[in-house]
Amino acid sequence: MRVTILGAGVIGVTSAYQLAKLGHEVVVVDRQPGPALETSFANAGEVSFGYCSPWAAPGIPAKAVKWMLMRHAPLILRPKLDAAMIAWLVRMLSNCTASRYALNKGRMLRLADYSRKALAEVRAETSLSYDERMLGTLQLFRTQAQLDSSAKDVKALAADGVPFEVLDRDGCVRVEPALRQVRDRIVGGLLTPKDETGDCFKFTNALEQKAAALGVDFQYGQCIRGLDIEAGEVRGVITDRGAVHSNAVVVALGSYSPLLLKSAGIKLPVYPVKGYSLTVPITDASRAPESTVMDETYKIAITRLGDRIRVGGMAEISGYTNDLVDARRRTLEYSVMDLFPGGDPKSAVFWSGLRPMTPDGTPIIGGTRIRNLFLNTGHGTLGWTMSCGSARVIADLVSGREPDIETSDLGLDRYE
Ligand SMILES: Cc1cc2nc3c(=O)[nH]c(=O)nc-3n(C[C@H](O)[C@H](O)[C@H](O)COP(=O)(O)OP(=O)(O)OC[C@H]3O[C@@H](n4cnc5c(N)ncnc54)[C@H](O)[C@@H]3O)c2cc1C
Repeated sequence: MRVTILGAGVIGVTSAYQLAKLGHEVVVVDRQPGPALETSFANAGEVSFGYCSPWAAPGIPAKAVKWMLMRHAPLILRPKLDAAMIAWLVRMLSNCTASRYALNKGRMLRLADYSRKALAEVRAETSLSYDERMLGTLQLFRTQAQLDSSAKDVKALAADGVPFEVLDRDGCVRVEPALRQVRDRIVGGLLTPKDETGDCFKFTNALEQKAAALGVDFQYGQCIRGLDIEAGEVRGVITDRGAVHSNAVVVALGSYSPLLLKSAGIKLPVYPVKGYSLTVPITDASRAPESTVMDETYKIAITRLGDRIRVGGMAEISGYTNDLVDARRRTLEYSVMDLFPGGDPKSAVFWSGLRPMTPDGTPIIGGTRIRNLFLNTGHGTLGWTMSCGSARVIADLVSGREPDIETSDLGLDRYE
């Protein structure tokens, strides 16, 4: 079958690889000159199968107010008269109950666990290198209150069978030796040792080469304008350079997916939530992290990627804008230099990306009411983590095969 994938971010490229492996003729269309040049470009680098939760959680509405008022605020809301923003916020708030949280987290963990296995398989098949490390995520607590409130996460991890260790100050220093210099600033941590780290941009580019070797046709520099739909069936896609015909289409346009689908009468509850990262060259490795450290106070992830530190985070709800706000850079600089002053912030690269967020945190993977039109999008905070499993699921669904995991609650119809 000829399948067109819309978007060459980490989701589109992993999907292309899996579909090509199943023997399909695959075309990938993207407006950029190469793969992973939008949200998959400089994310925080966590491949966090264990540290994996929806943002919509009990207590979040009250915490959100506190976060917005902090000096180094992890959450920024720029309200607009935007019906999509308002509808998304209302839906997100309705997911902040204990029962919705448990349901959503269960789905995310299922997909994350499957992605862990799928990524390991891709690594074994391709021997890709992408500054990968397998040293876990350390959630770092600066206050006793943070450590105490992690008890509920510990309970959830135990219930879900995710390996973890609760660490005191010395335990944190054992895992991340550079913290020795700032040990008085921390009280403890929660380690999820099975988590991994890696550069999503490098991974996506390396996998694109492997997919091209399997015959995938990557067509860059083409802006997708609309879908070619006839008699309730998709026939292909219209770009600024003409039509691309195919038997099936997979939408993997990240935050831009709802804009395309709107023209086909499909309402997709995905909204862009902007985040920022700073990539700092390491000048003193003894003061750099070994893996990912999640600073619980500022909700910022600090990750070692080869000879660089990548620090990323913040949630800015401000619509479709990638503008780089200086105050956010200062927050990232402050956060990384406070714990790991082993880099040179003056030579750092500042970046922003739009997380394609669903209100319940779970991506949207599956078919639509238009025959042969599929969705693999809405991966929000954890697209890199969930990419390989999502790609396996969509490749199976497009091929009419039974996926290895339950997928009936991952599709768009859960919102209908
Ligand atoms: C600051 C930050 C930190 C993050 N940290 C992590 C992390 O540590 N771990 C993790 O797992 N995830 C993380 N994420 C989330 C992760 O980066 C995303 O979920 C993931 O990159 C989404 O991938 P995607 O392929 O869906 O979207 P994208 O990478 O945005 O790909 C979509 C593609 O569609 C193309 N496109 C869009 N519209 C059109 C059009 N009209 N015509 C043609 N092409 C089009 C774009 O050019 C783009 O290449 C982070 C995100 C941010 C912003």
